[in-house]
Amino acid sequence: MKRSIATVSLSGTLEQKLAAVAAAGFQGVEIFETDLITFPGRPRDVAAIAADLGLAITLFQPFRDLEAMPEPQRSRAFERMERKFDVMAELGAPLILLCSNCSPLALPDRPRMIDDLRELGGRAAARGMRVGYEALAWGLHVNDHREAWALVRDADHPAIGLILDTFHSLSRRIPSTSIGDIRAEKLFLVQVADAPLLDMDLLQWSRHFRCMPGQGDLAVTDWAEAIWRIGYDGWWSLEIFNDRFRSGSASGIAQDGNRSLLALRDAVSRRPRSPFAPQMPPPVASERMAFIEFAASHQEAAALGQMLAALGFHAMAGHRRKDVMRWRQGDINIVVNSEPEGFAHSFDIMHGASVCAIGFVVDDVAGALGRARALGVPLFEQAVGPDEIELPGVRGVGGTLLHFIASGREEAVWAHEFPQPLPDPPTSLSLGLTHIDHVAQTMTHEEFLSWQLFYLTLFGMTKTPQVDIADTLGLVHSQAVESPGKGIRITLNGSQSGQTLSSRFVQHYFGAGVQHIAFACPDVFAAAAAAQANGLDLLPIPPNYYDDLEARFGLDPTLVDRLRAHNILYDSDGEAEYFQLYSRAFARRVFFEIVERRAYQGYGAANAVVRLAAQARFKPPAA
Ligand code: MG
Ligand code: MG
Repeated sequence: MKRSIATVSLSGTLEQKLAAVAAAGFQGVEIFETDLITFPGRPRDVAAIAADLGLAITLFQPFRDLEAMPEPQRSRAFERMERKFDVMAELGAPLILLCSNCSPLALPDRPRMIDDLRELGGRAAARGMRVGYEALAWGLHVNDHREAWALVRDADHPAIGLILDTFHSLSRRIPSTSIGDIRAEKLFLVQVADAPLLDMDLLQWSRHFRCMPGQGDLAVTDWAEAIWRIGYDGWWSLEIFNDRFRSGSASGIAQDGNRSLLALRDAVSRRPRSPFAPQMPPPVASERMAFIEFAASHQEAAALGQMLAALGFHAMAGHRRKDVMRWRQGDINIVVNSEPEGFAHSFDIMHGASVCAIGFVVDDVAGALGRARALGVPLFEQAVGPDEIELPGVRGVGGTLLHFIASGREEAVWAHEFPQPLPDPPTSLSLGLTHIDHVAQTMTHEEFLSWQLFYLTLFGMTKTPQVDIADTLGLVHSQAVESPGKGIRITLNGSQSGQTLSSRFVQHYFGAGVQHIAFACPDVFAAAAAAQANGLDLLPIPPNYYDDLEARFGLDPTLVDRLRAHNILYDSDGEAEYFQLYSRAFARRVFFEIVERRAYQGYGAANAVVRLAAQARFKPPAA
């Protein structure tokens, strides 16, 4: 797969963009005209930089408003194009993108369009160049790739071909089956972008909300498959206009782009009767977290231990050599690492006591590492001493580690690393917590899509629709990624407003990280009663919430009284019901949630505003 990206997709200067594109693993780059105009050197200098970086210049773009113009605009447009051919010659760009005409002067004159394309072909061929014609979704007379293809076909000039762009086709819901009519040798370049489904003006949607394949809602995989099926083997080039990407890190966005194209090819390769075989192991199959590891100094570990005990966890065993404690309840393992050196210690110094690692139970560890490597996800490997079990993995959100443990090997690993159960009985009542329901990770607005892509491409997770949650001091965007069997659920949260709880978390924490962990239980009232008996400090919910609940859902007043008595939040979508309660934050950083799902699949988004307001109101006593 020949991979390219348009410079307009990235932040920074042209030199920075080219370096990021090359470092991410692309073989080609589209030069957006604005990037060239603002570059202080000559086009030949850009050509030299690209050549040094091993990048082919795949396309120069855009060129607007040429076909079917009246005179004198027509002559003027051809004159302009000749000047662009001069630039391209110096730049070493073999192809220019011609957008379908948006000028109000453009004539609805199809024979004229064909004649103009043919004349353009002659002029391009004389300069050894080619022109790719693209139907803009908002083009005045041509706004459908089927019409653009018919014009290219009828112009019938070897230097005139078609450029397809997912956004322009899929935003107008043009069926991908229509691609089967296009001849591969006339398809000069393919531009790829996804986008969330939004009901808005096409131009604004395109200019601000395009995203990497997989990050949006368009049927990009179907579209790509249709293109491969006609035998196209040219460039696949990302052309992404996105406000977050423009303010994000060029190298990070470029890596995500390269990853998204590799994952797109992989998704097509796994379809029935695919035109080609997979080139990497399949998405990592994981439906369970084996453990969550906290980094904590001794002092912090004591405070965290009190909280875990109040949540009904039992300090079960110490590590055979290290200063690490295993806490357990149901199928949940919490590991608290107080080693005076190593990764967890550095993590604690940087962030304070918090989640530094998560273990995922996977079907195939070697395959998981192979897929991570193929997607350019940094691996984590540690020197292992004699008689030590290696837990390989990758770097996850905010520098946390994501370990892979082979399914079926967990008990052997626990028995080896934590061989001696402590003699002491549990110090608190069990809450009956059974498993980890979800983990909430908070990050900056700019890196939100990047971590989403990480989970989608590495694990084959799917995403839920994004919800906007009103914090008392701004909006927070929240979206979950879920494993195919929903055994693993992770909510991603980010905010553009500096004072939301999400943003303050990222500032105080020095980066992205786990902000809350939700545990599942079969009986939320029993869990709440045990938590209160254990002295767990719960987040108080205002009485007005319960009055509204009663009115909104028509709930039995005795049920509402029970909810109120335990500070339990409630949500329902028809038959399904959700119950949730929250602890206060540990060290003003991580907090815990207890949930009971009765066929409910969401995350109680309607309650998040109440929870955030309650958290904002809470001021911990001065130390
Ligand atoms: Mg385009
Ligand atoms: Mg939650």
